[in-house]
Amino acid sequence: MTLPEDLRLRYYPDPVLRMRAAPVRRVDDDVRARARAMFRIMYEHGGIGLSGPQVGWLERIFVVNLTGEEEQADQEEVYINPRITSPEGSATEEEGCLSFPQIRIEITRPERVHVRALDLEGKPFERRADGLLARCAQHEFDHLDGIVFTTRTSITRRLQLRKALKELECRFEEEERAG
Ligand code: ZN
Repeated sequence: MTLPEDLRLRYYPDPVLRMRAAPVRRVDDDVRARARAMFRIMYEHGGIGLSGPQVGWLERIFVVNLTGEEEQADQEEVYINPRITSPEGSATEEEGCLSFPQIRIEITRPERVHVRALDLEGKPFERRADGLLARCAQHEFDHLDGIVFTTRTSITRRLQLRKALKELECRFEEEERAG
């Protein structure tokens, strides 16, 4: 079992970011404690969304607070075993990812989607998401399938990113060696 204190932000090219996450089997106190830890890590690093795989927890969960402000806890949302359907429209915006520090990429995604998930009580909920929430939910959902945002961009842009990615690769190797 993954303990909340074992969760830490994983950076590209950590192999866990390429793995497909398994469904959360039961929404219990352990899941709630780990979700709490995810919010803490997300705020620490200045994010607005974070997925399980990004903290080494390979289950289908992501957390969102579009304000990115710990003080605005009423804006916190947890999506467990989410499903995304009914994509509509198309929008291109810059995205960042906590697992890819300093990198911003323009990504085209559906503008509106329908999201169904379980909340932290294990109760199903659904909502129509648009704008930033739609983008964030789709980005985080991708993580649950082992898809990182660099694969959602053009080959040209990926080539431009090569140096920045190489730097992250070197840093990852150094940290692996340091244990
Ligand atoms: Zn991300």
